[in-house]
Amino acid sequence: MPRLILVLGDQLTPAVAALRAAERTRDVVVMAEVMGEATYVPHHPKKIAFVFSAMRHFADALRADGWRVAYTRLDDPANAGAIPAELLRRAEETGAQEVIATEPGEWRLIGLLEDMPLPVRLLPDDRFLATRKEFETWAEGRKSLRMEYFYREMRRKYAIMMEGDKPAGGQWNYDHDNRERARADMFRARPPRFDPDPITEDVLALVADRFGGNFGTLRPFWFAVTRDQARAALDHFITHRLADFGPYQDAMLEGDAFLSHAVIGLYLNAGLLDAREVCRAAEDAWRAGAVPINSAEGFIRQILGWREFVRGIYFLEGPGYAQRNALDHRRALPAMYWGGETRMACMHAAIGQTRDHAYAHHIQRLMVTGNFALLAGVDPSAVHEWYLAVYADAYEWVEAPNVVGMSQFADGGVVGSKPYVSSGAYIDRMSDHCKSCHYKVKDKTGARACPFNLLYWHFLMRHRDRFASNPRMAQMYRTWDRMAEDRRATVLAEGDALLERMSAGAVI
Ligand code: FAD
Repeated sequence: MPRLILVLGDQLTPAVAALRAAERTRDVVVMAEVMGEATYVPHHPKKIAFVFSAMRHFADALRADGWRVAYTRLDDPANAGAIPAELLRRAEETGAQEVIATEPGEWRLIGLLEDMPLPVRLLPDDRFLATRKEFETWAEGRKSLRMEYFYREMRRKYAIMMEGDKPAGGQWNYDHDNRERARADMFRARPPRFDPDPITEDVLALVADRFGGNFGTLRPFWFAVTRDQARAALDHFITHRLADFGPYQDAMLEGDAFLSHAVIGLYLNAGLLDAREVCRAAEDAWRAGAVPINSAEGFIRQILGWREFVRGIYFLEGPGYAQRNALDHRRALPAMYWGGETRMACMHAAIGQTRDHAYAHHIQRLMVTGNFALLAGVDPSAVHEWYLAVYADAYEWVEAPNVVGMSQFADGGVVGSKPYVSSGAYIDRMSDHCKSCHYKVKDKTGARACPFNLLYWHFLMRHRDRFASNPRMAQMYRTWDRMAEDRRATVLAEGDALLERMSAGAVI
């Protein structure tokens, strides 16, 4: 009797656990495009198109490799609309009485599979470099969980950029060589673009028809949708942009959506690239003398360190993590996040490229859109839903710890020891946005004062009880206390007025 082998849209590799446990001559692979998954948040049309097209290409590759694949398209009249319902339908069709699946990266979907009236064998997702158990053991008994220490363990475990038991070059971290401002006149290679083939064209027509009203532009569509294309995108990055990744990873430039970033998160998360191969490729480039150590180490830390760390946190903290709201923030997400007008150049740039490419790089997500939502006191669930919807690489296991934890401090300090907040000065230092902005970054008060300046102090004062005793924040409170009293009153009053205007729908 066949068993059903479930392959989800972010598990697109023959190396995924469920396929490794399957028998090609006996089992049926089940893949399904379902409304349940396509609509639980209003995903960016490019994200939906990427997942569906990559799924269709992967199903074809499996068939060519001798697998029996039961693939359900979104517009199939028999489509049951949800993953469990599709499995039941396929079980009836084939007589299968068991499902083998690789653990999904989301509590919601794990719950749905566990509640099925059919036995489901959930296998650990060993595409990740740290198992859930390993992370739990590492976390046990620690007062606080800091990525840096976890990362060192991972470097040792996989012997990545190591010389014996010492880090290559003598240091674990080269960030002091990074954080440079980028110049607009510097040449930078762009991420490669892949022309849609007929399979992708079919998907694009379907997505335009069903999801054309969602936030985000569908065309031009240029993402890789196969393993070979994703590998070409990685190779292009390693050859042309990795060398500059370190110094410019925190930089932002008007009109440059990608700078020296890899733009591979969507491929890694969907299974088209493997985290080990990406880290090895960066290490090899450094060992060959093609890229400096600060770039190779900085890049590897993002994948071997941050990516694994946030996944560990997501599962460690359990279901409900994404709904946390430690700072009790309640404001609605301003309309500008969904494409409404704004006069802030940095927000305009970050949200505009998100609309066009389903992409923004880390510092834009953290220090522009995330920082603004946190300073303005937006409900973290609304922020979480936005990030989950608009980025092509967004899946809850990685998005929620980054948004709810790192960016909104709504987990009360599990991911970060202090909130990532800054005034306009940080954005001015790391970008050229302020030069063309309606607001004046040097103005702390007045009609043209940068909203980040006003809201920065407003946030710190709203949460003084919680943060004043944090050693990493005490200096900010001392600076505030040294300001003249009437100036402090003006800053807070103008911050209040700004938030009121924004909530009333005014363009900020
Ligand atoms: P690069 O900057 O070139 O980095 C290389 C790779 O490192 C990325 O592809 C990614 O796999 C990994 N990486 C880097 N930083 C992180 C991190 N903090 N957590 C996990 N992996 C990391 N990443 C997602 O994959 N999905 C998300 O939904 C997501 N949401 C985010 C939301 C916020 C508020 C913040 C601050 C960060 C978020 N990140 C998310 C992390 C990071 O911003 C993206 O991984 C990165 O921007 C993807 O672009 P890239 O491939 O060009 O990455």
